[in-house]
Amino acid sequence: MKYDRVFNFSAGPSMMPLEVLEQAQKELLNYHGTGESVMEMSHRSAEFKEIIEQAEKDLRDLLNIPENYKVLFLQGGGTLQFSMIPINLLFNSKKADYILTGNWAKKAYQEACKFGDIRVAASSEESNYTYIPETSRSDFRSDADYVYVCYNNTIYGSHFNEIPDVGDLTLVADMSSCLLSEEIDVSRFGLIYAGAQKNIAPAGLTIVIVREDLIGHAPKDTPVYLDYETHAKKDSMYNTPPCFNIYMAGLVFRHLKKMGGISAMHAKNVAQAEKLYGALDALDFYNKPVRKKDRSLMNVVFTTPSKELDAKFVQEAKEHGMINVKGHRSVGGIRTSIFNAMPDEGVDTLVEFIRKFAEENA
Ligand SMILES: *Cc1c(COP(=O)(O)O)cnc(C)c1O
Repeated sequence: MKYDRVFNFSAGPSMMPLEVLEQAQKELLNYHGTGESVMEMSHRSAEFKEIIEQAEKDLRDLLNIPENYKVLFLQGGGTLQFSMIPINLLFNSKKADYILTGNWAKKAYQEACKFGDIRVAASSEESNYTYIPETSRSDFRSDADYVYVCYNNTIYGSHFNEIPDVGDLTLVADMSSCLLSEEIDVSRFGLIYAGAQKNIAPAGLTIVIVREDLIGHAPKDTPVYLDYETHAKKDSMYNTPPCFNIYMAGLVFRHLKKMGGISAMHAKNVAQAEKLYGALDALDFYNKPVRKKDRSLMNVVFTTPSKELDAKFVQEAKEHGMINVKGHRSVGGIRTSIFNAMPDEGVDTLVEFIRKFAEENA
């Protein structure tokens, strides 16, 4: 069968693996002989129980999640975690230190300020977030309840290539745009979360991986949905979970396992990013704002010599079957997101276009 599919370089919702979409299509009307779609299925049914349990197991296998961590399947996007994290984790000093490396970290910081004594420990805002600031233990308050980072900065195209040393403080990471793209040592973090729509599944699912000792300390008046304990106690089934999204995430996890797991996916991501950055670095025509060692493997950000050419680039890319290459509205320029599901042909087509565009417009 021939598909008329574009290469979607969106930062999210973004491409899903074709094999996964095909499988979902095959099972859409009649899931495993049940005579119903997963969309229609009771979340209390034996079939759905198997779907959610298998999804969790596969995610645990992929990321080597230690047993003393809970995996929660929630709703509310990355944004709700900006609130749930301070509500649940500010349970001793009510102090937390944030590293500001972009808009998402800043939004998380601003939200947290409603709940406690929140401090900016380091920031690259003065350079419009073109690098990841270096930190050491002494940059963080020794009694902070947690230190917060946004591990991959989707808008600016930067990434923590080393886990910040926070000593024995609890490290919290927003991995919305990099979870499953690289191997990570979960035990170095107290909590990791990701909105699914960047690198995992359709929008509407948020995955939270949280160490058990951090659960159960929310204030008494916390709305029930916002308390991690609510979900942890009921295995993400306190209320109706986003069933279809969990099913889709499960298919992606299984697909990843089949592809060789996270290390194989990371190797593919590195190869694609090297190809793309290599093409950009070879051409003075393009400006690459992010410090080299902090570059993201997932979101490749650059500009042409003018706003007019940026717009032309976006338009012509679209005509060549490459959509959503426009930079985030807050920074402009070009952003090409190459998440796990981006095929090699997508990157090859883009690289060829990048060269041709520079030649024609220099
Ligand atoms: C997209 C994104 C968010 C916001 O996610 P929503 O699901 O839209 O709330 C937060 N953090 C990062 C790093 C993101 O890329």
